[in-house]
Amino acid sequence: MNLVELLQIASSEEKAEGFLRERGVLKTFDSCPFCHAKNIGKIRRNFYKCYKCKKEWSVRKDSILEDLKIPFSKFILAVKLFILEVPAHKSHKELDLAYNTTHKIYTKLRQCIYKFVSKDDQLLSGEVEIDESYFGGKRKGSRGRGAKNKIPVFGILERNGKVKVEIVKDVSAETLLRETIKKVKRGSLIYTDKFKSYDGLVMYGFKHERIDKSVKFANGKVYINGIEGFWSYVKERLLKFHGVSKDNFIYYLKELEFRYNFMDNIDDSLYKCLGGIN
Ligand SMILES: [Zn+2]
Repeated sequence: MNLVELLQIASSEEKAEGFLRERGVLKTFDSCPFCHAKNIGKIRRNFYKCYKCKKEWSVRKDSILEDLKIPFSKFILAVKLFILEVPAHKSHKELDLAYNTTHKIYTKLRQCIYKFVSKDDQLLSGEVEIDESYFGGKRKGSRGRGAKNKIPVFGILERNGKVKVEIVKDVSAETLLRETIKKVKRGSLIYTDKFKSYDGLVMYGFKHERIDKSVKFANGKVYINGIEGFWSYVKERLLKFHGVSKDNFIYYLKELEFRYNFMDNIDDSLYKCLGGIN
């Protein structure tokens, strides 16, 4: 959905509500959400009532909009600006909203994405590249003294498929093998660099090829440029956020995993997250 089409929808609250309902973002109740009685009805704009238990609920019940006091039209515009990577400190002006409100919307979007991405337990397979990288901290370097105070992240990329990333407590063989077993189908062909922690892959039923990057970056099909491309993608974007706190880092990381995997269909994919549809 391009911006012009979206502006049409955002031109009326009714259209915007319909748009959100079609995508499952607003829930449609055919019975009372409290007592399940069928005898319910609309009592005033945006409110429903159960005639059995007498309880009332808003059209926003059980949705991401439940505690957002903004019009539906502004919400869908905010989602679009989020998709277009306009940071909250800029988009709030475009939306004529307080920064805090926009920040709250963005945080909720990231939480939805995190939930959606975490539910995906499909194993990666075929030809797979794995690698670790470090984020945060001031010193350059990795895998040594430079890695101190940085967050180690483990990444797995299926060639022509998805990428999956996880924050890990360390980059020991034990940790990285455990993550690999959790996310990659046995029998897959795994490409790594020469890092020692990957020594045991064959013992766990994987095929394993490694590239010595101190000699050359690729040897035929033996390379890890795919996952390294993803690290550059993430680092470039994190720079825009001028430092993400350690506690929030996982949400930004998962957002970027999601954006990378659904690049070609980001609008629909994000609405799937918001509608809780997997
Ligand atoms: Zn009821």
